[in-house]
Amino acid sequence: MKRLTILLVLIISTSVLIMGQFKLVDLPYKYNALEPYIDSTTMYIHYNFHHQGYATNLNKALEKYPELYKKDIMELLQNIKELPADIQTTVRNNGGGYYNHNLFWKMMAPAGTTKISAKLEKKLIDNFGSVEVFKTEFEKAGMTRFGSGWAWLVKEPSGKLKIFSTANQDSPINADAEVKGKPVLTLDVWEHAYYLKYQNKRAAYVKAFWSVVNWNEVERLIYN
Ligand code: MN
Repeated sequence: MKRLTILLVLIISTSVLIMGQFKLVDLPYKYNALEPYIDSTTMYIHYNFHHQGYATNLNKALEKYPELYKKDIMELLQNIKELPADIQTTVRNNGGGYYNHNLFWKMMAPAGTTKISAKLEKKLIDNFGSVEVFKTEFEKAGMTRFGSGWAWLVKEPSGKLKIFSTANQDSPINADAEVKGKPVLTLDVWEHAYYLKYQNKRAAYVKAFWSVVNWNEVERLIYN
Protein backbone atom coordinates (compact mmCIF):
# COMPACT_ATOMS: atom_id res chain seq x y z
CA MET A 1 0.00 0.00 0.00
CA LYS A 2 2.77 2.37 0.97
CA ARG A 3 4.63 1.53 -2.23
CA LEU A 4 1.54 2.18 -4.29
CA THR A 5 1.15 5.61 -2.67
CA ILE A 6 4.77 6.45 -3.44
CA LEU A 7 4.28 5.29 -7.02
CA LEU A 8 1.16 7.42 -7.42
CA VAL A 9 2.91 10.48 -5.99
CA LEU A 10 5.76 9.90 -8.45
CA ILE A 11 3.39 9.61 -11.41
CA ILE A 12 1.49 12.73 -10.39
CA SER A 13 4.65 14.79 -9.85
CA THR A 14 6.05 13.64 -13.20
CA SER A 15 2.91 14.71 -15.04
CA VAL A 16 3.03 18.09 -13.32
CA LEU A 17 6.65 18.44 -14.42
CA ILE A 18 5.73 17.64 -18.02
CA MET A 19 2.89 20.18 -17.95
CA GLY A 20 5.15 22.84 -16.47
CA GLN A 21 6.53 23.83 -19.79
CA PHE A 22 9.02 26.54 -18.91
CA LYS A 23 12.39 24.92 -19.58
CA LEU A 24 15.85 26.41 -19.75
CA VAL A 25 17.35 27.08 -23.15
CA ASP A 26 20.30 24.78 -23.81
CA LEU A 27 23.57 26.42 -22.95
CA PRO A 28 25.05 27.19 -26.40
CA TYR A 29 28.60 26.30 -25.23
CA LYS A 30 30.36 24.23 -22.59
CA TYR A 31 30.62 25.41 -18.98
CA ASN A 32 34.31 26.22 -19.44
CA ALA A 33 33.91 27.92 -22.84
CA LEU A 34 34.00 31.46 -21.44
CA GLU A 35 37.14 30.94 -19.35
CA PRO A 36 39.04 32.79 -18.08
CA TYR A 37 36.51 35.64 -18.15
CA ILE A 38 33.68 33.61 -16.66
CA ASP A 39 34.83 30.51 -14.81
CA SER A 40 33.27 27.11 -15.35
CA THR A 41 32.19 26.64 -11.71
CA THR A 42 30.22 29.88 -11.81
CA MET A 43 28.66 28.89 -15.15
CA TYR A 44 27.68 25.48 -13.79
CA ILE A 45 26.10 26.81 -10.59
CA HIS A 46 24.51 29.79 -12.32
CA TYR A 47 22.83 27.67 -15.00
CA ASN A 48 21.92 24.53 -13.06
CA PHE A 49 20.97 26.04 -9.73
CA HIS A 50 20.15 29.73 -10.08
CA HIS A 51 18.52 29.69 -13.52
CA GLN A 52 16.91 26.28 -12.95
CA GLY A 53 15.67 27.55 -9.59
CA TYR A 54 13.81 30.43 -11.23
CA ALA A 55 12.21 28.06 -13.76
CA THR A 56 11.21 25.58 -11.05
CA ASN A 57 9.65 28.30 -8.89
CA LEU A 58 7.81 29.76 -11.88
CA ASN A 59 6.42 26.36 -12.89
CA LYS A 60 5.41 25.64 -9.31
CA ALA A 61 3.57 28.96 -8.99
CA LEU A 62 1.60 28.21 -12.16
CA GLU A 63 0.43 24.79 -10.91
CA LYS A 64 -2.76 26.43 -9.67
CA TYR A 65 -3.36 28.03 -13.06
CA PRO A 66 -2.16 25.41 -15.56
CA GLU A 67 -3.64 27.30 -18.54
CA LEU A 68 -0.81 29.81 -18.01
CA TYR A 69 1.78 27.18 -18.97
CA LYS A 70 0.62 27.70 -22.54
CA LYS A 71 1.50 31.39 -22.55
CA ASP A 72 4.76 32.78 -23.77
CA ILE A 73 6.98 34.02 -20.93
CA MET A 74 7.12 37.49 -22.53
CA GLU A 75 3.33 37.65 -22.54
CA LEU A 76 3.26 36.80 -18.83
CA LEU A 77 5.86 39.43 -17.97
CA GLN A 78 4.28 42.13 -20.12
CA ASN A 79 0.91 41.63 -18.42
CA ILE A 80 1.77 40.86 -14.81
CA LYS A 81 -1.06 43.03 -13.50
CA GLU A 82 -3.63 40.88 -15.30
CA LEU A 83 -2.41 37.66 -13.64
CA PRO A 84 -4.02 36.26 -10.47
CA ALA A 85 -2.86 38.48 -7.58
CA ASP A 86 -1.29 35.62 -5.63
CA ILE A 87 1.27 34.81 -8.34
CA GLN A 88 2.17 38.30 -9.61
CA THR A 89 5.28 38.70 -7.46
CA THR A 90 6.52 35.18 -8.19
CA VAL A 91 6.04 35.63 -11.93
CA ARG A 92 7.81 38.99 -11.81
CA ASN A 93 10.81 37.62 -9.90
CA ASN A 94 11.08 34.01 -11.00
CA GLY A 95 9.53 34.45 -14.45
CA GLY A 96 11.84 37.43 -14.87
CA GLY A 97 14.84 35.37 -13.77
CA TYR A 98 13.84 32.57 -16.13
CA TYR A 99 13.48 34.95 -19.10
CA ASN A 100 16.56 37.11 -18.41
CA HIS A 101 18.96 34.17 -18.13
CA ASN A 102 17.64 32.58 -21.33
CA LEU A 103 18.66 35.81 -23.09
CA PHE A 104 21.92 36.23 -21.21
CA TRP A 105 23.44 32.83 -22.16
CA LYS A 106 22.81 33.48 -25.85
CA MET A 107 24.40 36.90 -25.67
CA MET A 108 27.78 35.39 -24.83
CA ALA A 109 30.24 33.36 -26.89
CA PRO A 110 33.80 32.08 -26.41
CA ALA A 111 36.34 34.92 -26.53
CA GLY A 112 37.55 35.83 -30.00
CA THR A 113 34.76 34.05 -31.87
CA THR A 114 32.72 37.14 -32.80
CA LYS A 115 33.49 40.80 -33.36
CA ILE A 116 31.63 44.05 -33.95
CA SER A 117 30.83 44.23 -37.67
CA ALA A 118 31.09 47.50 -39.63
CA LYS A 119 27.28 47.65 -39.70
CA LEU A 120 26.96 47.25 -35.93
CA GLU A 121 29.80 49.69 -35.31
CA LYS A 122 27.99 52.33 -37.36
CA LYS A 123 24.78 51.69 -35.42
CA LEU A 124 26.58 52.15 -32.09
CA ILE A 125 28.31 55.32 -33.33
CA ASP A 126 24.98 56.74 -34.56
CA ASN A 127 23.41 56.13 -31.14
CA PHE A 128 26.24 56.83 -28.71
CA GLY A 129 28.90 58.79 -30.59
CA SER A 130 31.47 55.99 -30.44
CA VAL A 131 31.85 52.34 -29.47
CA GLU A 132 33.95 53.47 -26.50
CA VAL A 133 31.20 55.76 -25.20
CA PHE A 134 28.68 52.93 -25.65
CA LYS A 135 30.87 50.55 -23.62
CA THR A 136 31.52 53.15 -20.91
CA GLU A 137 27.81 53.88 -20.53
CA PHE A 138 26.90 50.20 -20.40
CA GLU A 139 29.60 49.55 -17.78
CA LYS A 140 28.30 52.50 -15.78
CA ALA A 141 24.77 51.06 -15.87
CA GLY A 142 26.10 47.77 -14.48
CA MET A 143 28.29 49.47 -11.87
CA THR A 144 25.72 51.93 -10.56
CA ARG A 145 22.94 49.38 -10.12
CA PHE A 146 22.86 49.15 -6.33
CA GLY A 147 22.38 45.60 -5.10
CA SER A 148 21.20 42.98 -7.59
CA GLY A 149 20.04 43.60 -11.13
CA TRP A 150 20.87 43.78 -14.80
CA ALA A 151 22.42 46.24 -17.29
CA TRP A 152 20.59 46.52 -20.62
CA LEU A 153 20.99 47.75 -24.16
CA VAL A 154 17.45 48.18 -25.47
CA LYS A 155 16.00 48.85 -28.89
CA GLU A 156 13.10 51.19 -28.29
CA PRO A 157 10.02 50.95 -30.54
CA SER A 158 11.36 54.05 -32.37
CA GLY A 159 14.48 52.06 -33.27
CA LYS A 160 16.72 54.10 -30.98
CA LEU A 161 19.18 52.23 -28.75
CA LYS A 162 19.11 53.04 -25.01
CA ILE A 163 21.16 51.89 -22.03
CA PHE A 164 19.75 51.50 -18.53
CA SER A 165 19.62 49.06 -15.64
CA THR A 166 16.91 47.24 -13.71
CA ALA A 167 16.67 45.95 -10.15
CA ASN A 168 16.22 42.30 -9.23
CA GLN A 169 14.92 40.31 -12.24
CA ASP A 170 13.05 43.16 -13.93
CA SER A 171 13.63 43.81 -17.63
CA PRO A 172 12.71 46.23 -20.44
CA ILE A 173 9.66 44.12 -21.23
CA ASN A 174 7.95 44.81 -17.88
CA ALA A 175 4.98 47.13 -18.42
CA ASP A 176 6.36 49.57 -15.84
CA ALA A 177 9.99 49.53 -17.06
CA GLU A 178 11.77 52.89 -17.12
CA VAL A 179 12.93 52.11 -20.68
CA LYS A 180 10.68 49.79 -22.65
CA GLY A 181 11.62 47.85 -25.74
CA LYS A 182 13.48 44.85 -27.05
CA PRO A 183 16.54 43.71 -25.10
CA VAL A 184 19.52 43.39 -27.45
CA LEU A 185 22.31 43.01 -24.88
CA THR A 186 22.21 42.31 -21.17
CA LEU A 187 24.58 41.67 -18.30
CA ASP A 188 23.70 39.97 -15.03
CA VAL A 189 25.21 41.99 -12.17
CA TRP A 190 23.87 39.84 -9.34
CA GLU A 191 26.75 38.76 -7.09
CA HIS A 192 26.00 35.10 -7.94
CA ALA A 193 27.14 35.89 -11.50
CA TYR A 194 30.70 36.83 -10.50
CA TYR A 195 31.47 36.43 -6.82
CA LEU A 196 33.42 33.13 -6.99
CA LYS A 197 35.97 34.62 -9.39
CA TYR A 198 35.80 38.36 -8.82
CA GLN A 199 34.51 38.63 -5.22
CA ASN A 200 33.68 42.31 -4.58
CA LYS A 201 35.26 43.51 -7.83
CA ARG A 202 32.18 43.97 -9.95
CA ALA A 203 34.05 46.44 -12.20
CA ALA A 204 36.55 43.75 -13.24
CA TYR A 205 33.68 41.38 -14.11
CA VAL A 206 31.84 44.06 -16.09
CA LYS A 207 34.99 44.82 -18.10
CA ALA A 208 35.72 41.12 -18.66
CA PHE A 209 32.23 40.73 -20.14
CA TRP A 210 33.34 42.55 -23.32
CA SER A 211 35.64 39.62 -24.14
CA VAL A 212 32.72 37.18 -24.28
CA VAL A 213 29.90 39.24 -25.83
CA ASN A 214 28.31 37.47 -28.79
CA TRP A 215 28.26 40.43 -31.18
CA ASN A 216 26.55 38.36 -33.89
CA GLU A 217 23.61 37.84 -31.57
CA VAL A 218 23.49 41.52 -30.61
CA GLU A 219 23.38 42.48 -34.30
CA ARG A 220 20.78 39.83 -35.07
CA LEU A 221 18.54 41.11 -32.29
CA ILE A 222 18.90 44.74 -33.42
CA TYR A 223 17.98 44.02 -37.03
CA ASN A 224 15.47 41.17 -36.67
MN1 MN B 1 21.92 35.29 -12.55
